[in-house]
Order: sequence, then structure tokens, then C-alpha cells
Amino acid sequence: MLALTRGLLRQHRAPQSGRALHVCKSIAEMRAYRRSTNAHSTLGFVPTMGALHSGHVSLAIAARKECDLVAGSIFVNPTQFGVGEDLDKYPRTLQSDLAMLADAGMDVVFVPESRDEMYAPNPLCHVEPAPFSRIMEGVARPDFFRGVATIVCKLFNVVQPTHAYFGQKDISQCILVQRLVQDLNMPVCVRVCETMRAEDGLALSSRNVYLSASERAVAGVLYKALQAGKALCEGRSEVSRAAVVSTCEEILRAEPLLSRIEYVSLASPTDMEELVSFSHAIGDGAVLSAAIRLGSVRLIDNVLVGSAPQHIYGNR
Ligand code: AMP
Repeated sequence: MLALTRGLLRQHRAPQSGRALHVCKSIAEMRAYRRSTNAHSTLGFVPTMGALHSGHVSLAIAARKECDLVAGSIFVNPTQFGVGEDLDKYPRTLQSDLAMLADAGMDVVFVPESRDEMYAPNPLCHVEPAPFSRIMEGVARPDFFRGVATIVCKLFNVVQPTHAYFGQKDISQCILVQRLVQDLNMPVCVRVCETMRAEDGLALSSRNVYLSASERAVAGVLYKALQAGKALCEGRSEVSRAAVVSTCEEILRAEPLLSRIEYVSLASPTDMEELVSFSHAIGDGAVLSAAIRLGSVRLIDNVLVGSAPQHIYGNR
């Protein structure tokens, strides 16, 4: 993976890389930095939870290409973890994260020193994307999307970006943020960037370090299953959701190390509501996504079907 990151950086060597990375540990410092920048400059923002890999770097590179200044954040957001999830043991690799962001030509990174810097005690307000609690991650993790929407809103208020970059790997998060800026009239242009993968198709993720060697060896099965579902959709004029789901599930179930399929979803890219069927007549296409457990490790991934890429990536 290090080789993938180096390759990415060589390929897209930013003219500014090598500049000092400014680290802001408080909201006040981040606001002071933003005030010191030219009011007309564009600022691209890459929010992360750290334990960075080539997927995160690809977002920083996309921001570097498009914006005058690039900011990131590293904050393991407690409100998007449920009880019993891996908040305490989420991988934390701050020094190597900072080195990677500096190499990617990032200008400034916001690293709140504690939960208290971001959350006042007993907050009264949060952002509640209610319909999302019925879908995908929201079913197994009821507070997840509220946690994501609220922290993204807070980070946008602190960093004040003109552009923000998210990875397609977390597709429901991307669509949620697109809707957030639209519904709340936020002056931020949201960009979705393609998922970076290992050679066997496994989407890079900070949580992949939890996989044992034998689990890692078979983890490409998730992408393989989604590709099969996508091929079924795109090879026919109309196909039911049930047929697509069972095609994916059959491939997943054939893998003995798989302990659970959490969901396979065929949804609309506008609001992530489940579709009854896929047909090429659906103007916006579809998002085929899944979450599985390999041993105790939860993996998610998705592919875009039909004309969904135009909807998700927009006209750039
Ligand atoms: P995280 O640190 O997991 O919260 O992710 C921060 C950002 O990086 C999110 O926008 C993710 O979607 C994005 N990201 C994570 N993995 C990948 C990947 N494999 N390819 C591209 N972007 C990714």
C-alpha cells in the first residue's frame, strides 16, 4: 500500500508539495488560519478520521489539482460510533498521517485535540437526516448518519471550505453530504472521488488492518460479488432487485470465512432509497452496495450501475 501511495504521489506530484504543513489543534487556530488566507482563494477540504492510506491521499491530490489551498482534518468522531463499536481501538497513526498529507501538498490540517474541542457538553442541536436511519449503515448503526451529518456540518463551519472531497467508498456518506449542502444552503461544492483499491479489488480502508492474513486473502470477494451484480444489471434491459441481490449473495456465501452479510442494497443515487428493479430507463442509474463481516471485521463497498456515475461525479 505504501507503494500505491508513492506511485500516486509520483504520478500527481503537486507543485506545492514539500511546503510546510500547518497543524491547527483548536477551532480558534483553524479560524485564525482561514482569516489569514485570501478571501477569494478556493479552499479544498478533505475530512478524515486518520490512519491514512492511498484512498485519503487521492482525495488530497484531487483537491490540490482544483483549489488554491488544501485543508484536511483528522478527528475520530465519537458520535458516529455505536455502543460496542471500535471507537477506542480505532487505529491512530498521527505522525505518519501528517507526513503523508505534507507529501500530498496539503497546506493545513485541523486536528482537534479532544472530543471537547468539537462537542460542547449536552449539545441541544444536531443534524438529523431522518430517512437515512432506515437504510444501509443506518439500520445496524442507528446514530451513524446523524453523527456523520453533524460532524461534517461542524467541520464545514470551522474550516469554511469552498470545495469538499469525499470517497465513493462511503457512498451513502457522499450522498448524505450532497443533500446536506443542498438542503441547508451551504456554499460548498461537494466532489466525490473514485474508490482506491488493492490489486484484488478490496477497497482500501483504515479498518483493513484488523483482517487476519487468511481473511485478507479472500477479502476481494466483496468487490467480485458487486461486479457480478453490476454485470447482471447492465447485461439486461430490466432486472429485479431480488435477482441482483441473490447474484451477489450467492458469491458471498460461497466464501467459508464470511460470517455475515449485513446487507446488499440496490438503491437510487439521489436519496439511497431501495429500488424495486434496475432498468436502463432509470435516468439516474443505481448504486449497488454491500456490507459483510469477514470474521469480526466489517467491510463495505459499492459500484455504480448504469448512468449513476454521471449523477455522482457530476460534470467536471
Ligand atoms: P475515513 O477516514 O474512513 O473517515 O475516510 C475519510 C475519507 O476518505 C472519506 O471521504 C472516505 O470515503 C475516503 N476514503 C476512504 N477509503 C477510501 C478509498 N479506498 N478510496 C477513496 N477514498 C476513500
